[in-house]
Amino acid sequence: MRICRFSTGEEPRFGVVTGDVDQFGQPAEDSVVVPLAGDPLYVGIKLLDEEHRLNDVRLLAPVIPRSKVVGIGRNYAAHAAELGHDLPDEPLMFLKPNTTVVGPGDPIYYPPQTSNLHYEGELAVVIGRICRDVPAEQATDVIFGYTIANDVTARDLQKSDVQFTRAKGFDSFCPVGPWIETDLDPHDFNDGRAVQTYLNGDVVQDGSTADMIFDVPTLVAHVSSVMTLLPGDLILTGTPEGVGPMQVGDEVEISIAGIGALANPVALRSPNPGS
Ligand code: MG
Repeated sequence: MRICRFSTGEEPRFGVVTGDVDQFGQPAEDSVVVPLAGDPLYVGIKLLDEEHRLNDVRLLAPVIPRSKVVGIGRNYAAHAAELGHDLPDEPLMFLKPNTTVVGPGDPIYYPPQTSNLHYEGELAVVIGRICRDVPAEQATDVIFGYTIANDVTARDLQKSDVQFTRAKGFDSFCPVGPWIETDLDPHDFNDGRAVQTYLNGDVVQDGSTADMIFDVPTLVAHVSSVMTLLPGDLILTGTPEGVGPMQVGDEVEISIAGIGALANPVALRSPNPGS
C-alpha cells in the first residue's frame, strides 16, 4: 500500500495512492488518491468514500517526523571510499532536525554559507510505533514502511565543521516522498533494490541496497539501542557512491525500485527576515 500526504488546496490530508508505478517510478495516468480519516500512524488505515485523481492533487512530504530524522553515514563501501574514509565498524549516526523535511517538488534551498552542495539518494525507513532496544530480528514489527530521501549535504561544511549538524541541517535539506510504501522488503532480491539518482536527467548514482554494509534490521536495532524511536521518525540508510554537486536551477530526482521517484528543484536561499 502506498500512503501519501496531499493537499487539494485545503488542509493537508493522508491518502492511499492506487495504480501501478512504472520502471522509472512514475505512477499510472489513472492513479487516484483515496483520502484517509486521520494520520494512519495514529488511527490506522480508515478509507473515506471519496477519491481524487493523483494528477489533481499536490503531494506533500508523506510524513513530518515529530521528533527526529536519524542519518546513517558511510553505509556503502564505495561511497565511504569516494570520500576517503575507512569502513565503519558499527553504524555511524547523526541527526537532521525535522525542519529539514520538505516534500516532492519543493525546492532545495542553496544556502550562501556553502559552495559545494551535494545530493545523496537514500532509502528511508519510516518508524511505525514507539520502541527502543529493538532486536534486529524484530525490526520489521516497528517499521511502518519505506520512502525515498535526499540527504542533502553541504560537503565543504561537513569537512570544516567535523560535526555534521550544520552541513546536513539547513531547512529543505531532507526532501522525502513521494509516498510511503508499506509492503516493501528492502532486501528481498539477491541484487537488492536499485537506488538511482538523476541530475537534470543524467544518472549520477546507480546503487543497490544489496551493497549496504549494515542492513535495515541492523540499523533499527543499533539506533533504537541509543534512543527511543517514535512513530514517524525517519532513518536514512546511507547513500551509494556517486555523490556530487548541485547548482541553483538543477533538478535532482531519486528513484528506488518498488517505491517510486522523488524530484526536487534547487533554488537560491534568500534571507527571510522576521519569519
Ligand atoms: Mg547520507
